[in-house]
Amino acid sequence: MKILVINAGSSSIKYQLFDMEDESVLAKGAVERIGIQGSNLVHKVPGRDNYTVQADMKDHIVAMQAILGALTDPEHGVVSSMDEISAVGHRVVQGGSYFDGPALCTEDTLNKIRDLCDLAPLHNPAHLMGMEACRNVMPNTPMVAVFDTAFHQTMPPTAYLYPLPYEYYEKYHVRRYGAHGTSHKYVSRRAAELMGRPVESLKTVTCHLGNGASITAVDGGKSVDTSMGLTPLAGIMMGTRSGDIDPAIMEYMMEKTGMSIKEMTRVLNKESGLLGISGISSDMRDCTAAREENPRAELAIDMFCYRVRRFIGAYAALMGGLDAVVFTAGIGENTPYIRKRCCEGLAFMGVEIDDAKNNRPAGDFICSPDGAKVTVMTIATDEEKVIARETRALLENP
Ligand code: ADP
Repeated sequence: MKILVINAGSSSIKYQLFDMEDESVLAKGAVERIGIQGSNLVHKVPGRDNYTVQADMKDHIVAMQAILGALTDPEHGVVSSMDEISAVGHRVVQGGSYFDGPALCTEDTLNKIRDLCDLAPLHNPAHLMGMEACRNVMPNTPMVAVFDTAFHQTMPPTAYLYPLPYEYYEKYHVRRYGAHGTSHKYVSRRAAELMGRPVESLKTVTCHLGNGASITAVDGGKSVDTSMGLTPLAGIMMGTRSGDIDPAIMEYMMEKTGMSIKEMTRVLNKESGLLGISGISSDMRDCTAAREENPRAELAIDMFCYRVRRFIGAYAALMGGLDAVVFTAGIGENTPYIRKRCCEGLAFMGVEIDDAKNNRPAGDFICSPDGAKVTVMTIATDEEKVIARETRALLENP
């Protein structure tokens, strides 16, 4: 069975084609600058040179046609016809309270995703364009939507409600939805596998530390709290996002500088976090490389790790214990130094790092000492693979 995973943005479509026999990636790539001059498609097949198509692609339908053209191209393709593709799995950022798992892309599902556009104005409309385009170019292929928020639908109201007037929740659906759910779900299960224990028996804190970063408390396999909120701006400090701040800072700074609410929100999303503090880069590699001669890069790293630590401690407290801590995504998987700093000072609750184990290159491994009370792990996340798996599972067991 071959499954195509699609991640559609407003001007881009990323794709990966999986052979589900061994979950290998047959081809992957992206179309960028859809609807903008200079659109292009870069198509990558393991072991071959990249294939690039430069052509103006006015909309998502033309982009999807180009993707299918590349996948079935006699020279550069990996399938002889699109009939070989059994299903398409679409990544969807916001599933609101409607979806606690993947859903077939029926008219009803699409209407609900449309209904949620207000909550994810940059993402859901783009996902819909991707789905419509797929439906247009491969009308007989089943499609499944896999939601970033679905895993967090098990949070109790104490965790997902904000202490605001209750009508904000009732009338406007203001609540915590979380993000990166597909990743948190995958790594919490993979962690249980590495430990040789059922996920139902574990209290785990999963730290997805990429450009966007979020931390989740997973109790007995279920998300019980997560650091991102109504939007992905909340929680820990990120590459360019502030994470949690005193909301009154917004009015204060707007009065001081004359910024509009839009400008202020842009600063919180695009000019804060590692970039805002270090003044040099949103990228952890740059901050780490500069930290010895640049005190602000060092401060940015300190602040980042401090916030991760704060969530690990808080989530252990609210779960009433801790069996495992998992680090994943770009920073979590590739930076032993950051993992170590995030766990510093947590030995009192059994969280410790073994330097020799921790310094291994990326992969799935345990980085705490043998016999430690809490198992600290590094796990490579693969959201596309999980989307492909969930798509297959739903088709096989509707
Ligand atoms: P996103 O998917 O949210 O855009 P990623 O998961 O790719 O982000 O993570 C990006 C972050 O991971 C950057 O801060 C980058 O510095 C860091 N990162 C990625 N690869 C490496 C690496 N090989 N070594 C160190 N840091 C890395």
